[in-house]
Amino acid sequence: MAKLQIRKIGDDVLRKVCRPVDVITPRILTLLDDMTETMRAADGCGLAAPQVGVLRRVVVIETEPGTVYELINPKIIATAGEQEAAEGCLSVPGRSGITRRPKYVTVRALNRNGETVEISGSDLLARAICHELDHLDGKLYIDCAVRMLGEDED
Ligand code: ZN
Repeated sequence: MAKLQIRKIGDDVLRKVCRPVDVITPRILTLLDDMTETMRAADGCGLAAPQVGVLRRVVVIETEPGTVYELINPKIIATAGEQEAAEGCLSVPGRSGITRRPKYVTVRALNRNGETVEISGSDLLARAICHELDHLDGKLYIDCAVRMLGEDED
């Protein structure tokens, strides 16, 4: 595994629409491993491939330590309710903002074995799913933030 460089706001790669994965190659599996390592090293709870410069529809999420969701070509298939909470992003260091997201989200994706999986989550997991999937379409949470919170000095 290798720790990858996290792209920061201002980098064009964060604004591109990612392509689906057609075939789950060893390269994609390595990408998943490296993304998880990179997310953990940065103390994040999610990471999308464009954040490490790869324009593929791949995300990893770990809102509960020890449970990593590896999602390939993910699609949100159901949402319910609403929540407002503070959100941050490893690509937007030192800032946070309040976003409005669904309270419950169900996502359908392929796992690393190419099997279709469905994951349902609420609260933080629901928010993380929405946040990471937005990255795949070149969107950042700051685009939809209800308001930004104070900026940290970093
Ligand atoms: Zn992010």
